[in-house]
Amino acid sequence: MKKQSTPEKHVFHVDGSRIAGDQVAFPDAEAQHLSRVLRLVPGDIVRVVDGDGGLYRVRLDAVTRNGALGKIMEALPSPAEPLVRCTVAVGLLKHAGRYETMLEKVTELGAVRIVPLLSERCERSEVKESRSHGILVAAMKQCGAARLPRLDASTRLDRFLDEPVVGLRLVCHESGSDRRPLADVLREYGSGDVTVLVGPEGGFTEAELSRTRAAGYVPVSLGARRLRTETAAIAAVSIILNMTGR
Ligand code: SAH
Repeated sequence: MKKQSTPEKHVFHVDGSRIAGDQVAFPDAEAQHLSRVLRLVPGDIVRVVDGDGGLYRVRLDAVTRNGALGKIMEALPSPAEPLVRCTVAVGLLKHAGRYETMLEKVTELGAVRIVPLLSERCERSEVKESRSHGILVAAMKQCGAARLPRLDASTRLDRFLDEPVVGLRLVCHESGSDRRPLADVLREYGSGDVTVLVGPEGGFTEAELSRTRAAGYVPVSLGARRLRTETAAIAAVSIILNMTGR
């Protein structure tokens, strides 16, 4: 027997391209979850996020084993987002699971863009795109947000450094006397966009570090200990977003 449910607590991700006017066409994976796992039926009310700030109350109109359609009943206020747009570019790791943990956590924290970086000491060259997308969607839903970060394809460090960047540029470095504590640099900066680089397991090479400096990246320290890449990325995004406003 179907348990009495409160479906509105269920949140589904539907890309804006599948929302036309007030009509919502759930993608296959969400439709299957909705019908087979949650056993929702036409008339049930759910929430839909579009990953671009849109949040809606939606009434299910048609639910089959493979598809679901709904109608937007109400557009809800967009959940609050960090004031600062933080991009984090992180060296790829051999251990895919650790990289995925990083993707999940920086999404929860509110990074707007994640760039998997290819540098000399990387031992892997790509992230699994559909798996990573699923991790970002789950993390967004989990923390009640309505915006997905943009996840770039793997990008060579040199190529990334060629990009024009607005705002503060930081490179996390675990040693070296020219580093400044991240908090000190942020205190002087106030608020604005921030881009932060984190090296792979083996770190950046000296040559890479001098290229980052030449491109205007300030070397910063996250404390006395040498952290794992994913820990450094999560710590950096957390400190940046906490010190630069909401
Ligand atoms: N080169 C090191 C380890 C690199 S740690 C070695 O193998 O000995 C991986 C990345 O995490 C570094 O490139 C850096 O970006 C970041 N990181 C780790 N600990 C850090 C710290 N205390 N401060 C700033 N960045 C750190």
